[in-house]
Amino acid sequence: MASPDPLDVLIIGAGISGIGAACYLQRDLPGHSYAILEARDASGGTWDLFRYPGVRSDSDLQTFGYEFKPWRDEDSIASAGKILAYLRETMAEHDVERHVRYQSRACGASWSSADACWTVQVEDTVTGQRSSVTARWVFCAGGYYRYDEGFSPRFEGRDRFAGPVIHPQHWPEDLDYAGQRVVVIGSGATAVTLIPALAETAGHVTMLQRTPSYVMPVPRGDKWAVRLRGLVGEDRAHAITRRKNIARQQWVWRFCQRYPKTARRLIRRINVKFLPPGYPVDEHFSPPYGPWDQRLCAAPEGDLFRVIRDGRASVVTAQIANFTERGVLLASGQELEADIIVTATGLNVQAMGGVELTVDGQPVSLPDTVAYKGMMLSDVPNFAYAIGYTNSSWTLKVGLLCEHFCRLLRRMDEVGATTATPVVADPAMPTRPFLDFGAGYIQRAIGALPRQGDRAPWLTSLNYPGDVKLLRHRPVDDPELHLTARPAPAPADAAAHQVVVLWTASISRPARPSSPGRPAALASSWPTPWLAAAPGWRWSTGTLPGSTGSPRRYASSTGSR
Ligand SMILES: Cc1cc2nc3c(=O)[nH]c(=O)nc-3n(C[C@H](O)[C@H](O)[C@H](O)COP(=O)(O)OP(=O)(O)OC[C@H]3O[C@@H](n4cnc5c(N)ncnc54)[C@H](O)[C@@H]3O)c2cc1C
Repeated sequence: MASPDPLDVLIIGAGISGIGAACYLQRDLPGHSYAILEARDASGGTWDLFRYPGVRSDSDLQTFGYEFKPWRDEDSIASAGKILAYLRETMAEHDVERHVRYQSRACGASWSSADACWTVQVEDTVTGQRSSVTARWVFCAGGYYRYDEGFSPRFEGRDRFAGPVIHPQHWPEDLDYAGQRVVVIGSGATAVTLIPALAETAGHVTMLQRTPSYVMPVPRGDKWAVRLRGLVGEDRAHAITRRKNIARQQWVWRFCQRYPKTARRLIRRINVKFLPPGYPVDEHFSPPYGPWDQRLCAAPEGDLFRVIRDGRASVVTAQIANFTERGVLLASGQELEADIIVTATGLNVQAMGGVELTVDGQPVSLPDTVAYKGMMLSDVPNFAYAIGYTNSSWTLKVGLLCEHFCRLLRRMDEVGATTATPVVADPAMPTRPFLDFGAGYIQRAIGALPRQGDRAPWLTSLNYPGDVKLLRHRPVDDPELHLTARPAPAPADAAAHQVVVLWTASISRPARPSSPGRPAALASSWPTPWLAAAPGWRWSTGTLPGSTGSPRRYASSTGSR
């Protein structure tokens, strides 16, 4: 597909985040050009990839769906099929499809300060051919995990087991499990989703877990939302239900963080009500951490508890010793016999779609960067990413940061800036891991992720009301976000240029030191025409690098000192 080069924005990934980013761009910056690179041959990301029985959301779709597009289905907790249909409908309504380049994996992205532009290396995932795309901005919506391989710990004797060993990320379409004994290893959202669906036709399903998770029964639908639609129409009902659900999510999360013991007791009491009399609740449903220190698993209409009550599924909490020909041998010496083993052991976290970044030839090491407002990286110009919430609907955060991203681009146009670079003002600022979240898949990868600071704007917030203030209402101008204009082309007379630079530098102190290839920015209150006439210098208006003041006129040049 032909497109003007360089594009204004290159989005990586056509999942719920990338499709959303495209819609926000079209709505808020209709004149800007963009394209989406998608490694797969289909849109939808997670909701197209996962095909295991019962795959569904565990958030309500009023908050997991977009703010700008009402969720119309009766189910609030929705199947992957329904979510995918919603995403494809959104693409059709906003004419996003023609911007997507399928089977195109972004492998690397190199920023050139001289050109104020990214060059993104793209691999055709069918032919292996390489090409490149240039763009002023890269917006990475590549999700947070590897698509080619789920996480599977090494189980001793795996090859000895005679039946299939399946990871839910690669579910075989033709797997016949009717009447079979299935052991599902894992206790996270995937296992909790999969087990009731398998139990419909399997002979018996055993959930084999090392550590229990919190599981809460939730209603599948939202009768209130459906009734409201009839009263006030779809758009208003969506907005009101969304607010209600955001408030509820926030309330539940805060309550669990503030009163973990009470929350734990309440969850236990509900579990007891849903499980058969005398069931060992503490052994199988009492995790060693507090509620919402990791994501709480949802059981729509208590489906997991129902299949346990009916005897179609059971839970075993134990250590695995090894696989055998017949199933799984536990450390206790007990053997669980199985025809099929499912390893619902999680995901392999991958940051930034696995794209290798370089800035002016220097590779970017993610752990050496600090996340700015949870959407950009320190010292990486014109690069934004979509990482959502882990404690409520992912997309609530992604929607806010897409809005902020569009405001930033508009602001840059207003002040004539071509480059936005977050720069930590205090080099001694302490940093800590990117996410304060205990889930195993995050902890396994935390060392390879960016860091966060100890103060705004360097925090990765999990607080929706706080993010509404920061990302929606506060100005995009920030002393630690350096907006600069594109360096002017090299002057014909290099000697004359050098004279101008030396001369100005001796009169006015630079706002920050220049480095090779980076624009030097000078605060100046002296007569504009002098500099405007000087070769290699250009005047812009914006917030001066390193200053806390309101936007000012400044001159910039690539001149070296
Ligand atoms: C089974 C499952 C259920 C979940 N349920 C919920 C839920 O109920 N609520 C919730 O809040 N969160 C949930 N999540 C977490 C998260 O919200 C979802 O994964 C969400 O769909 C992420 O959307 P995304 O668009 O950011 O990423 P993805 O859905 O992962 O999409 C990323 C897209 O980018 C493409 N891509 C990646 N790298 C590249 C590259 N280098 N070049 C080109 N293309 C690339 C991928 O092919 C993919 O299409 C769930 C996650 C899983 C796995």
